[in-house]
Amino acid sequence: MTENGNWHILIPQNLEKTIWTGLIRVEGEEFQIQIELPRDKNIKHASIRGDWRLVRHLSKVQGTLESRLKSAVDPKAFMQEVCSLFDNIKASKTGTHSHGVVDDSPLYQRLVEEVETLGWEMVTNLESDLSQFKLTCNYSSDKTHNVTVQVHSEVQHPSNPPVSATALQDDFQLHWTPKLCLHDVITQFEGFLLKYRSFWEEMAEIDNDTWVLEPEKPGPMDVSRRIALGSNFSIQIVVDPVHPRMLPQCRFLGADNVINPVRKLLNTNLHAWNSHSSLLTNLRNILEVDFPTPAESQVQDFKEECGICYSYSLDSVIPDQVCDNPHCNKPFHQTCLYEWLRALPSSYQSITGVGFNILYGECPYCSKAISVKKLNER
Ligand SMILES: [Zn+2]
Ligand SMILES: [Zn+2]
Repeated sequence: MTENGNWHILIPQNLEKTIWTGLIRVEGEEFQIQIELPRDKNIKHASIRGDWRLVRHLSKVQGTLESRLKSAVDPKAFMQEVCSLFDNIKASKTGTHSHGVVDDSPLYQRLVEEVETLGWEMVTNLESDLSQFKLTCNYSSDKTHNVTVQVHSEVQHPSNPPVSATALQDDFQLHWTPKLCLHDVITQFEGFLLKYRSFWEEMAEIDNDTWVLEPEKPGPMDVSRRIALGSNFSIQIVVDPVHPRMLPQCRFLGADNVINPVRKLLNTNLHAWNSHSSLLTNLRNILEVDFPTPAESQVQDFKEECGICYSYSLDSVIPDQVCDNPHCNKPFHQTCLYEWLRALPSSYQSITGVGFNILYGECPYCSKAISVKKLNER
């Protein structure tokens, strides 16, 4: 406890006493604080989390805070220090004390005001000198996107645009004028997210209701999906993120006898594509198939390993060459099959015309005719 009516409590949250939560009361305001110690319980390496208002107050004295943390012996002693730091801030405000480094620069004040307008809950990460913020936008109930905003120095803000970055590939371009503030960054970022909202909704339906074989963990800007249709039979779609309900590029992978009827259906039913329905609904209707769903099947049912190297994923490529013999249907990696056929004296390659760069030979399993395109010619 300190004088001036400031006080704190701190309670360990686990038997090991590595996590402590507490409350700190400063000038009538209460702030939550959590101290997490590493396994060796060395407080020098503790991580401190707190209410953003508290973090904001303490960010003004970051340097002092760090040196106090280094000299503290345990969390309780550290809390004592935090409390006394507040006394210093208060004292320095009233001019009776010179401890504590309070940043009173116009830039700092301006940024604090800007974040206050925005709401501290929008900030998920913050550098103590306010030179970098991570601002978060929700685009659906369970997904968020972050934009990191870097403000350089007093000279440049707001006359020069802050640097912004996102995890999205199609990078968000900030349109800046000196009259803008952080709130405008969020408004622009929300507008950017809105552009892809329906794309993410369409892809989420596919990711939830079908078995996506590739990519294994789709990122927000992955426009392609390979969806299982059956054993060694899949469709690869490439979606236009701006017009996600338009007919995507489709490529079927599997044995000819399985692919051909579905390819025919796609062509026959194409006129029935209805952009008022979801992408998945359209694919179901046009292809006249029920996609295997995670609710009623295992992904392993559709992940048969390569018949040559016996692995599924080879340099992130999955076996997409399938023997056309309906009684065989063995899948192979393109690389494996190409190398296999090339090593056989009975294989031959056409050197002119349509079949150029195609290697013909026999399936390693059933000895029926099989062919593979030369590598990098997919
Ligand atoms: Zn293989
Ligand atoms: Zn075969």
